[in-house]
Amino acid sequence: MGNSTAKIVEESLDALLDDKSFLPDLTGQARQKAFTSLVSILSTPNHVNKSFLRIALENGKVERVPSFRVQHNNIMGPYKGGIRFHESVNEDEVVNLSSLMTLKNALHDVPFGGGKGGVVINPREYSEKELYMICKKYVQYFSEIIGPDKDIPAPDVGTGDREMDWMMGEYKSIRPGEPYRGSFTGKSVVNGGSLGRREATGKGVYFAFRYMLHNFVGNQEKWLSERDNIFAQTALEQKDKTLSLAFQGFGNVGSVAALEAFQCNHLNNKIVAVSDRNVTLYNSDGLDIPGLVKYTSNNNGDLPVDDDQLKDADVKASIKDRDDVLTLDVDVLFLAALGGQVHQENMQDVKASIIVEGANAPVTSGADKYFNEKGVIIIPDILANAGGVIVSYLEWLQGRETQFFSEEEVFKRQFDKMQETFDTIFPQFFGDPFPLRQNCYIHAVMKISTILYRQGKLY
Ligand code: NAD
Repeated sequence: MGNSTAKIVEESLDALLDDKSFLPDLTGQARQKAFTSLVSILSTPNHVNKSFLRIALENGKVERVPSFRVQHNNIMGPYKGGIRFHESVNEDEVVNLSSLMTLKNALHDVPFGGGKGGVVINPREYSEKELYMICKKYVQYFSEIIGPDKDIPAPDVGTGDREMDWMMGEYKSIRPGEPYRGSFTGKSVVNGGSLGRREATGKGVYFAFRYMLHNFVGNQEKWLSERDNIFAQTALEQKDKTLSLAFQGFGNVGSVAALEAFQCNHLNNKIVAVSDRNVTLYNSDGLDIPGLVKYTSNNNGDLPVDDDQLKDADVKASIKDRDDVLTLDVDVLFLAALGGQVHQENMQDVKASIIVEGANAPVTSGADKYFNEKGVIIIPDILANAGGVIVSYLEWLQGRETQFFSEEEVFKRQFDKMQETFDTIFPQFFGDPFPLRQNCYIHAVMKISTILYRQGKLY
């Protein structure tokens, strides 16, 4: 994947260098020097920690499992980011995702920096006992660098509340008597997790799309129609249609976002396709999303893969190949599976006018450029999928105060925070020539740069 985040950060700083109203005290050579410093700080992580976890398998063998914890930047607060268990995890990817976390937190005013972890395993190939050992070892190997005020991991692909509960338990044993509740977020509710954390990302992903099209575009039609901006045209064309939606990925993020879309009464939605690691399911009249959510929750998270299973689920759909979801004739494509799914080879076959990134970095930078030139609106990961980290912050806060919010209070705080960001970003996006992703990056980079400058770090 490469460090695509670093590239956009550099482009954002280039744009800001010429904007004399930004950090106006910095002029001439001092300005040039400070910006060179900013590029180097933001395009490289503070620390890349790598260990080979030594795991005794149940078959008697011993395996050394590569694992990472990357700490990108902590100027806004403790490092924060998920731990991914997946066979494709690699250093470049973890670095890229950690820098995305720095920017995401800055964009939404979450008082955390950016970090990310990864373990190179396919968790489906390990027993529960082996996964427990991997989690314990991960905490043992990285215990010096993590903690409630240092670096706070969370779940990501292949990990969930079970792993976070194990990890927090291990952290507590290693550091007796020290505060531990805020050392991990995404824990189970009984173990100090927040109500609403499981649904937070998916709900936020759909909210980002709905808020843009229904609230912002719906209220600004006249202003938008006067703009010489291809993205404004795209948004206006979609606003009053019956929208056909497709979702790639039907896990924690995709299934919750699809259910929100299904239940939404602000927009006229028809969810015609959903997919997972095995199949795409298609129905031009609209899929029964609650039926599919019920089926997946009883079947290890997997969608029905054949007619018998569809019958069990009592859902009408045709079965297509896994990757067909990306190129169907739909208005809106939600990407909620993995990174790098839309790229140079398949971008020309994508027909959607709006792409919503539930996953991190699902559109490669080459494809991103292609869509921007065509006027396809991409609601980027940094904007759309921040619900998870916002509610993680609320979990950390609740753990610190040992006072817990109701689910209603959690979602209210989450949506208020996201809305604040949307109200800053959407007018800029539809008003100026930069794509949405770049707008978000510029905004985040401005915040981080100002703090770095104020703390005297730009030497
Ligand atoms: P998950 O493991 O619950 O679900 C992943 C889904 O993608 C599953 O349905 C799986 O079958 C499917 N999938 C896997 N490989 C696929 C492929 N090649 N094609 C199509 N589908 C495939 O994970 P999740 O928590 O829903 O996360 C999804 C994405 O969102 C990840 O990229 C993650 O980093 C990102 N994300 C998650 C959160 C969160 O809070 N869970 C927050 C921010 C970003």
